Amino acid sequence: MIVVFLGPPGAGKGTQALRVSEKYGLPMVSTGDMLREAVAAGSALGAKVKSIMESGDLVDDETMAAVVEDRLGQPDCSDGVVLDGYPRTAPQAQTLDPLLARIDMGSVGLVIMLDVPEGEVVRRISGRRSCPGCGSNFHLTFQPPTTEGVCDQCGGDLIQRADDKEDVVRERLSVYRRMTEPLVDYYRQRGVLAEIEGSGTVEEIFSRVDAVMAEAMSS
Ligand code: AMP
Repeated sequence: MIVVFLGPPGAGKGTQALRVSEKYGLPMVSTGDMLREAVAAGSALGAKVKSIMESGDLVDDETMAAVVEDRLGQPDCSDGVVLDGYPRTAPQAQTLDPLLARIDMGSVGLVIMLDVPEGEVVRRISGRRSCPGCGSNFHLTFQPPTTEGVCDQCGGDLIQRADDKEDVVRERLSVYRRMTEPLVDYYRQRGVLAEIEGSGTVEEIFSRVDAVMAEAMSS
């Protein structure tokens, strides 16, 4: 099953995608994490995307298609994946199904849209801390790590992402409204969209996510 998470930055896509990935044994493919790893590694891809990411803009569709096709073609993805952060534009959505067909992975089976009001998104992101090592996310108020500054999952040092600063967050929200929100209708029309109320605790949201996952897996 190919599961896609949609929603504004700060909606909790990464956290919920990781939970789904763990419970259902599907690898999580986060394009944001992959690009951040490329930047940290100083690769050619990293050099190309660094300043785009820091400004809150989107990397071009062609580069993203190559990154995603390369990752989805790896053997661990053959039974499906949880996609976090892809697709993010109409052209990306339109190329995803042919791309999946090319590598014998079927098509997108479920799109989980996390609905969160904008004010709450800004509040959430400003307190967000991330682990560059394993991709886990924490929040200073809502989900603090057991030891301040240290990842509960892998013991790595937690950081605040450069693009989690408030002015960049506002730009990312505007890009989201313009470029990504239209995908909600695109997937609704294809009959694979599940809209989930994204406010509440991580557990409350996960129980809603899990209900639509269980239903999609059984049908
Ligand atoms: P994220 O962690 O998903 O918010 O992604 C961080 C940044 O990576 C975004 O603000 C974009 O600059 C870039 N990025 C991640 N995924 C995509 C994508 N599917 N298309 C274009 N840019 C992306």
